[in-house]
Amino acid sequence: MGGFKGKSVLVLGGSRGIGAAIVQRFAADGATVTFTYAGSREAAERLAAETGSTAVVTDSADRDAVIARVRDSGPLDVLVVNAGVGAFGDPLEQDPDAVDRLIRINVAAPYHAAVEAARRMPEGGRIIVIGSVNGDRIPFPGLSAYAMSKSALQGMARGLARDFGPRGITVNVVQPGPIDTDMNPADGPMKDIQHAVMAIKRHGRPEDVAGMVAWLAGPEAGFVTGAMHTIDGGFGA
Ligand code: NDP
Repeated sequence: MGGFKGKSVLVLGGSRGIGAAIVQRFAADGATVTFTYAGSREAAERLAAETGSTAVVTDSADRDAVIARVRDSGPLDVLVVNAGVGAFGDPLEQDPDAVDRLIRINVAAPYHAAVEAARRMPEGGRIIVIGSVNGDRIPFPGLSAYAMSKSALQGMARGLARDFGPRGITVNVVQPGPIDTDMNPADGPMKDIQHAVMAIKRHGRPEDVAGMVAWLAGPEAGFVTGAMHTIDGGFGA
């Protein structure tokens, strides 16, 4: 592989799970990869050493830190915003501070990062945000805040695609269904209820999502923008 040789890639939230698979994929394909993390320093340093990428601490809940990180990463060919958190449960019982934090990480950070990256992104640049099939479908209670944040990314991508399209920059959302990570383990308590609504009754792998991200970042996808790309085993079918 080596399809991204000479390309500069920044992954926000790359220390674990889907983000780590995205870092591994771009590094294996020859890109120069920087990724951020917040709490998982050991995992981040291990991944950086394994892949030859650079790990930097940046809390996506801190808007100014996110903007500074994107700015200081130099002109990017590809920005991937993967960092995301859940705040699941009865909305009547939820801590409003947890909901506001989720909005900062899942919505505000992707927006500000995308705008900052676009300032210096060359023609052909790619902005890819990890949303969720819950942006389209919410088959269980307790997902309102999370779903709200992921559907907000849809409007963002459609709008920014219009704003940056004239410069040849594409903006897309990848919407996974259940993927086996710390956030949603394949053997976790939600597995049966999730598999019940899926056409393919198992969790996907982080590498599956990384493959879709790599395609969107590559030369075959230059005409794909302002679109949602669902990879969910038929969760939303
Ligand atoms: P994990 O919880 O397994 O990993 C989350 C990653 O995001 C970690 O690298 C974590 O870094 C980083 N992150 C979280 N909060 C912050 C923060 N404040 N600042 C910087 N980095 C942060 O999640 P997944 O890999 O499962 O999820 C990745 C994305 O995919 C999320 O946006 C999620 O909503 C989405 N998604 C996941 C699905 C699933 O089933 N797994 C389904 C649909 C969407 P650190 O540990 O260093 O803090």
